[in-house]
Amino acid sequence: MTVMQQYTQRIVNTPMARGLDVIGDRWTLLILRDAFVGRCRFEDFRRYIGISKATLSRRLEALISEDVMVKRAYNKAGNRYEYKLTAKGQGMFASSLLAWQWESEWGTASDGSSPAPLPQQLLHRDCGHDLAPLVVCQYCQQGFSIEDVRLPAGDNMVDQLGDMQSVGQQRRVRASSGGGEQDLSLVHISDLIGDRWTLLLLIAAFFGAKRYDSFAKTLNIASNILTARLNLLVDVEVFERSDYQLNPPRSEYLLTTKGRSLYPIVMSLRQWVIDWLPEEEQGAELIHQPCGQPLKVAVHCGHCGEKPNIKSISFVSPQ
Ligand SMILES: [Zn+2]
Ligand SMILES: [Zn+2]
Repeated sequence: MTVMQQYTQRIVNTPMARGLDVIGDRWTLLILRDAFVGRCRFEDFRRYIGISKATLSRRLEALISEDVMVKRAYNKAGNRYEYKLTAKGQGMFASSLLAWQWESEWGTASDGSSPAPLPQQLLHRDCGHDLAPLVVCQYCQQGFSIEDVRLPAGDNMVDQLGDMQSVGQQRRVRASSGGGEQDLSLVHISDLIGDRWTLLLLIAAFFGAKRYDSFAKTLNIASNILTARLNLLVDVEVFERSDYQLNPPRSEYLLTTKGRSLYPIVMSLRQWVIDWLPEEEQGAELIHQPCGQPLKVAVHCGHCGEKPNIKSISFVSPQ
């Protein structure tokens, strides 16, 4: 296997990417989000998410077969069902708190045409304060950002990707479409991490990929898909395009602050896979540099420092 193929394997097999096979897509993320605020009936999911019956049935079946949700009768006749999160499903609560926080900070205001509006506020009942979820290293209890995490020594993917020269092919990244068919007002966290290629591009960027050719080679992605996803990520301000060469024109795609703020969410999804899908290939170990320990992620209440669980959070919903 070439070095590049190994990188591809690494990224595609990372727990972050494997998480997607379970959570599936944006519909699944929306179902989980609704389940976390207590919805459990088919018709409620349908109404709040605006999803077709057939799609909802398929997604619920998939979640049941992955042991993320269970279906049980709630009436005596046994012909009315509700869908509840299993312990494994509840294990995703921490990620969903981070997703909520990201969406509150970076998502576009709900315009009525998007799926059910987010709760405006989360209350941590154990301490009586608004919940500001804080992602920390379980070992040293300190918060972390992308700069604090590295691969084990001698295994520095970031440097190698950064040094790689783009080779001969005269590929050009076309200018931003300025929107195109995609209605940007509807881009939510679920669109970004619920799309396989978009998530893989983000992961590659977290590992240091910047140039078109680095993304193309690490992910082995078709050029039309790559161009479309890069343009989308630039349009939604997760990447910014920067020219590093004028003749011929060459651009790099750099994570913006908004893009970097997706890092803890992706890391917490990775933690869920490590905790709940132990049979999976665990991918490269990541090290939390300040404490030197393998990175294990926890989400705490920013006020009291305790770990919130689904029963200790109240939601304040918009009208
Ligand atoms: Zn640490
Ligand atoms: Zn608290």
